Amino acid sequence: MPELPEVETIARQLRARGVEGREILSVKVNWAPTVEPFSAVQFKKQIVGATIGKITRTGKWLIFSLSSGQTLLIHLRMAGSFSLEPGPHDRIVLGLSGEMNLYYRDTRKFGRWKLVDDPAVVLKSLGPDALTRGFSLSYFSDQMKRRSRMVKPLLLDQSVAAGLGNIYADEALWEAEIHPERLSGSLSGAELEALFKAIKQVLKTGIKNGGTSLGAGKTNYRDVEGESGRHREEVKAYGRGGKPCERCGTPLEKTVVAQRGTTFCPKCQRT
Ligand SMILES: [Zn+2]
Repeated sequence: MPELPEVETIARQLRARGVEGREILSVKVNWAPTVEPFSAVQFKKQIVGATIGKITRTGKWLIFSLSSGQTLLIHLRMAGSFSLEPGPHDRIVLGLSGEMNLYYRDTRKFGRWKLVDDPAVVLKSLGPDALTRGFSLSYFSDQMKRRSRMVKPLLLDQSVAAGLGNIYADEALWEAEIHPERLSGSLSGAELEALFKAIKQVLKTGIKNGGTSLGAGKTNYRDVEGESGRHREEVKAYGRGGKPCERCGTPLEKTVVAQRGTTFCPKCQRT
């Protein structure tokens, strides 16, 4: 599932491939629920003729600003991806000026495109993006102290920090040596600082490596070039249940925390 580093990688590649500045000449919607509440016909009517302006990202949302004044916010959910080449499971095809087609692929069909006049309608429920200055140590500490919830689900809560998902939450907790079920209010100042730094670090490393894909299934993350990201070699915890901890050699444990598969080191990450 694409998290902040994967979405950032896709945004950068779309910019590098020159998608910005192109006019949308045609739209083909193969899976109508992607563009709800619009029908495929209404959606086409709204965006054909608009030029794609800046392509940016907030949390896990990919953001296309349009010359019409509207904004297209795209959430890839489980398995959405983009390509400049056609393939199976293409749900939306944008025909762009300069003879470019942009294919939105989604094997699981959970991804959503929201066309809005004001992006705040979608983004207002999010906390600060985890890689912006708004996500500061003092903000993070305050959020963690004032709530008394298990730390892992709190990291996944997009209203606290936007961008983290299951992979990078497990990685940050392993890095900071904090058990995923610790109560957020019980973390010491030193632990909060370690976790804060670990969050920034694992996300930056993920971006540097072009994102993470685990496994070889067809639902796994792919970037615009069809690559699966080089970050999987560097993953320390997520998906490594039973394998030795790289810090202490203890086999990592796989468990479920707040309904999410979670991997941690029972020795380094004490309750
Ligand atoms: Zn360990």
